[in-house]
Amino acid sequence: MAKYIVLLGPPGAGKGTQAQIISKTMNLAHISSGDIFRENLKNETELGKLAKGFMNRGELVPDDVTIAMIRDRLKRPDCVQGALLDGFPRTPAQAQALGEMLAEWNAKIDSVPYISVPAQVLIERLSGRWSCPTCGFVYHEVFNAPKQAGVCDKDGAALYQREDDKSETVKRRIDVYVEQTSPLIAFYQEAGVLVEVDGILPIEQVTEELLAAIL
Ligand code: ADP
Ligand code: AMP
Repeated sequence: MAKYIVLLGPPGAGKGTQAQIISKTMNLAHISSGDIFRENLKNETELGKLAKGFMNRGELVPDDVTIAMIRDRLKRPDCVQGALLDGFPRTPAQAQALGEMLAEWNAKIDSVPYISVPAQVLIERLSGRWSCPTCGFVYHEVFNAPKQAGVCDKDGAALYQREDDKSETVKRRIDVYVEQTSPLIAFYQEAGVLVEVDGILPIEQVTEELLAAIL
């Protein structure tokens, strides 16, 4: 049966970092809503044009657009075994829609690891985040530095800093998370699928805790 895992946590908690590692271990498609939006922005698609303003302000793209995008993505062949969702759902309406679409496909959410990290650490993490434009790998200039500053270890591309990792936008994103996304912690706890993982630990240890919680 297909397996669906939702990684929950604030911006900068390490969802993308962990998803890149455990999606390989678990042989599950890594579906990052933020990555899909950024890809659309880069290719200047209609979806990208629509999402751009919201993303640059640190706000959420409207639910109807985001839900339709994820629904299409989950129907693709690489998701027949399920998916590891990173950054979706982010509102109660998105969580409701995800539950309904999985029920329609006779599936359900198996587990929701919640990676908890205090706010002051998030700011430190996001301000030092560097990403590869080609392979999407995520680095940190102190906590997970590439061998050569500014260059991807995997493919040699020049790393970039995200537009929305500027300090003003980061503050807004954390507020948006508290207001709109954090209610999902109680929602999934009540559903009996939430497992809390301490995201303050080093990357390798968070991976160990996550795998122990999921497998
Ligand atoms: P998210 O996807 O939740 O927004 P990321 O995975 O992009 O978060 O991580 C944000 C930043 O923090 C990145 O620069 C990443 O290298 C770094 N990071 C991730 N996990 C840890 C950790 N456990 N300890 C220290 N830094 C981390
Ligand atoms: P992320 O890469 O997860 O930090 O997301 C970057 C930005 O993409 C967010 O700040 C939102 O503007 C948008 N986004 C990503 N996922 C969602 C979602 N599930 N719902 C609404 N907007 C989203």
